[in-house]
Amino acid sequence: MTYDVVVIGAGAAGLMCALTAGYAGRRVLVVDHANKAGKKILMSGGGRCNFTHLASGPANFYSGNPSFCISALKRYRPEHFVELVERHGVEYVEKTPGQLFCADSSKEILRVLLTECGWAGVEVRLKTAVEGVERRGEGMRLATSLGPIDCGALVVATGGLSIPTMGATGFGYDIARQFDLAVTETRAALVPFTLTSQWKARAEALAGVSCEVAVTCHGKRYREPLLFTHRGLSGPAMLQISSVWQPGDTLSIDLLPWRDAFEALCRARREMPRRRLSTWLGEQLPKRLAQALVEWHDDDGVLAEYGNARLQAWAEALQAWRVKPAGTEGWRTAEVTMGGVDTRAISSKTFAVPSLPQLRFIGEVLDVTGELGGHNFQWAWASGVACGNAL
Ligand SMILES: Cc1cc2nc3c(=O)[nH]c(=O)nc-3n(C[C@H](O)[C@H](O)[C@H](O)COP(=O)(O)OP(=O)(O)OC[C@H]3O[C@@H](n4cnc5c(N)ncnc54)[C@H](O)[C@@H]3O)c2cc1C
Repeated sequence: MTYDVVVIGAGAAGLMCALTAGYAGRRVLVVDHANKAGKKILMSGGGRCNFTHLASGPANFYSGNPSFCISALKRYRPEHFVELVERHGVEYVEKTPGQLFCADSSKEILRVLLTECGWAGVEVRLKTAVEGVERRGEGMRLATSLGPIDCGALVVATGGLSIPTMGATGFGYDIARQFDLAVTETRAALVPFTLTSQWKARAEALAGVSCEVAVTCHGKRYREPLLFTHRGLSGPAMLQISSVWQPGDTLSIDLLPWRDAFEALCRARREMPRRRLSTWLGEQLPKRLAQALVEWHDDDGVLAEYGNARLQAWAEALQAWRVKPAGTEGWRTAEVTMGGVDTRAISSKTFAVPSLPQLRFIGEVLDVTGELGGHNFQWAWASGVACGNAL
């Protein structure tokens, strides 16, 4: 079997690259070991795929080489993907500002990609294991469960390591290493935190409680909802900060990010001196959390009893709640992988390895990781299109 292009990985980036190259007249084959294409697309966004963020730009990405993503993101913007889904009649909603989700189901996004692949003449072979790849003159040869396949260009779109049960493997990294490309350290990101015994018990008692917070770590601050779970802390704020958190780090959580707590407590003491602290807290925060806070601090009096120093201590407890996670939930639940194939050895225009132009890497397998909110799919689309156009 001989193709112009073989793409390993029928995920978001691989399908987007394949259809782009197909429309450009290339004979394209996509192979994937999974029994279904786009499994992560299907499970994304709680089954409704947050397929882009209208304001997605380089500032929304982490990478050891931050300027690498600029070119592709500039050339294929969120509105291009919106135009594509609109052409296919996909209905969508803007949940939080800029974040676009399917109104109905993630299946719609996969339908768009597979339909376009069909129109572009792309062949997709599932349940196909790739046993190895080797350079063959100006092209590449793959050893697969279908037999040997030769191609002019091989695109590695095998994604990251999160959710191994969905088919994630480190195969893309192995290919990179085989051709002497560096792979930066990988770790689970956009992932909930686990807590140790005392804090775990406290979180467990509050499981299901959610409130808006601002969380800070390593100078990064995210203002989004926090969710207490049976094992620790989750919700968008925690998922976002997990991308910068390192084992041993302490998080600082502001439970009242929209106000100055000391000033508000002083005003409450002045205007409602007979009010109990827990009652006031219950007006600012979910009642279960307010009650838990006074229990943790073993302090609940009427506001008139509180001197400035005690109110200051409470303000600090509310605005700089310090929590040291035991760890994260890891690859089992992480949405993405931080790190990956080092982009310093990849062309930001074509996604080819300059010393071996028949080999290309796109999507999450690269050391480019988006924030929560549709940025990771935008990277998959943008890198896929940039590479597909250059094939
Ligand atoms: C639960 C969850 C929810 C998410 N929600 C969102 C969201 O709403 N918005 C957002 O922007 N991002 C979201 N993400 C992240 C997003 O899904 C990924 O960043 C994106 O899918 C990466 O695309 P990709 O094509 O690079 O890799 P993938 O989509 O992971 O595709 C890689 C493909 O390669 C195949 N493959 C792997 N190894 C091999 C091998 N050895 N041989 C053959 N095939 C192989 C896999 O089977 C897979 O089909 C979510 C992720 C998860 C896990």
